[in-house]
Amino acid sequence: MLQLCTRHGEPAAQHRRVLLKSRTPSWTYLLIPFGLLPFAIVATVLEKRVKAAAWPFCPRCLKLRTGRLLGGIGVVVFAILAVLVLAAAVPHGTSYAGPIVLAFVALLFVGLLLAANAGWPLIASAHVSRDGSAVEVRNAHPRFAEHAAALQAWAAQQQWAAQQQWPAQQGYRQPQQWQPHYAHPQYPEQQSPGPGGTMPS
Ligand SMILES: [Zn+2]
Repeated sequence: MLQLCTRHGEPAAQHRRVLLKSRTPSWTYLLIPFGLLPFAIVATVLEKRVKAAAWPFCPRCLKLRTGRLLGGIGVVVFAILAVLVLAAAVPHGTSYAGPIVLAFVALLFVGLLLAANAGWPLIASAHVSRDGSAVEVRNAHPRFAEHAAALQAWAAQQQWAAQQQWPAQQGYRQPQQWQPHYAHPQYPEQQSPGPGGTMPS
């Protein structure tokens, strides 16, 4: 399990289940003029999803999320209050209604955008690669990158050890204890992920 957050490289305070998605290919936006539905369908079909069971978030990540959420809600509340106040203040029959509605919609959009940025995948700044085979972290903190590389090396070593017919190592599972549980006599040859060889993906 990853112990450092990807964004700040700090020890995780919380692990969360995160649904990571691939980024929408930019060419699909060309479909928007033909209607939102074709765009939505193509984007959904092309989307790759990966469920990360326990993605690490440090206290700064949690603060960032709260800040974005509150900021978004604040802007939306401000927009609603401003419209209510203006509606009461501006006399009827004036031509202010158009610009006020426009400003309200714009503020609403900004607020929702801010709140949407508080989503866990965006806080993690992680997304699935286009072919769905890997999870990419944008602007990963160097400390996290080091940590991840070490984990990967460890996992590779575990796999190598597994391929070496499970040699008896200190603190390592021995085949004799495990073989009886499996009907397969050739268990060591099986392509099984080593213990801990599971990277959160
Ligand atoms: Zn963090």
